[in-house]
Amino acid sequence: MLWHELAGKALDGEMISREEALQVLAVPREELLDLVSACYRIRRHYHGNRVKLNMLINAKSGLCAEDCSYCSQSLLAQSGVDRYPLQSKEVLLEGARQALEVKAHTYCIVISGRRPTPRELDHITDAVREIRSQYPLRICCCLGLLNEGEVQKLRDAGVERINHNLNTSEDFYDEICTTHSYQDRMATVQAVKRGGVSSCSGGILGMGESDEQIVELAFSLRELDVDSIPVNFLIPIPGTPLGGVEYLTPQKCLAILCLFRLVNPSKELRIAGGREYHLRSFQPLGLYIADSIFIGDYLTTRGELPEKDLQMIEEAGFVPALPPGIPGMDVTPDYAPGITSAGVPADSSNSLTSMKTRNL
Ligand code: SF4
Repeated sequence: MLWHELAGKALDGEMISREEALQVLAVPREELLDLVSACYRIRRHYHGNRVKLNMLINAKSGLCAEDCSYCSQSLLAQSGVDRYPLQSKEVLLEGARQALEVKAHTYCIVISGRRPTPRELDHITDAVREIRSQYPLRICCCLGLLNEGEVQKLRDAGVERINHNLNTSEDFYDEICTTHSYQDRMATVQAVKRGGVSSCSGGILGMGESDEQIVELAFSLRELDVDSIPVNFLIPIPGTPLGGVEYLTPQKCLAILCLFRLVNPSKELRIAGGREYHLRSFQPLGLYIADSIFIGDYLTTRGELPEKDLQMIEEAGFVPALPPGIPGMDVTPDYAPGITSAGVPADSSNSLTSMKTRNL
């Protein structure tokens, strides 16, 4: 396979075929660096040498009645994770301060559960307004299933991006969850798009899906035209139904990232959960494909120390992409139409003028 021809195709706006996509996932080990180099052309074209850093806060942990088999926060899991209700505004603000300290571009507020209650939504929108008035951060929320009205409420508070992962292909979904459906997830992503908020949706790889199903997920996300794609690699947490499922290799993870880059060339591609665990010494190579990572800890698992990730980024020749509002720093384009350069919804009466999935 001529990997650079494939990258050229993607750069020309041509869709690679499903057969070509399957060949990417089956790349021979001796050709892997050629494939990475081809994908680096695409990454460089659309994202230069910037790496977007995202820091998340687990704002409500555990106690979830859903049965997602990868998740340690389900009541069905015997994982011993922390269980606590929605954190106070002060804690959410402190998380934002810490996000800025480690050069995060986007602060991601994540809660466990099928969907937020009205009270939880009010609490989060209040906290977001406060954060936006104090810190030059972009805010992403990952709150479970949402309808269009709830999306708009978040948008009006200054939330610029909402994450809701498809997680896997439609025909594998029932194998990993029975309490909600692929269509439920799809409906939320569509509500996010209709609600005028930038959409973030990706998957969890390594759950037992076939290569064909990985390709299906990558193509579905292209069809949905989401702005940002987090690629999680399953961390098999003891006590969860997928606790013993572990077959990914660093090479396979790189090939998966290459596939998502080739199918979704211009999108923000984030190496999300499982980066440290599965890519290991290949992490810097991942930066030549993806343009975004999480910094700090994940929802229920530890991440690398922020200073080590910043060092890796610098040593690989990349720079963190910071949000508008920090003088002299690199700036990435706005997330969504209708958001002003200060990050405030253009048609909102909100008077703020100032301005950083994982496995959900
Ligand atoms: S992924 Fe979300 S909805 Fe599923 S069990 Fe975990 S917290 Fe609940």
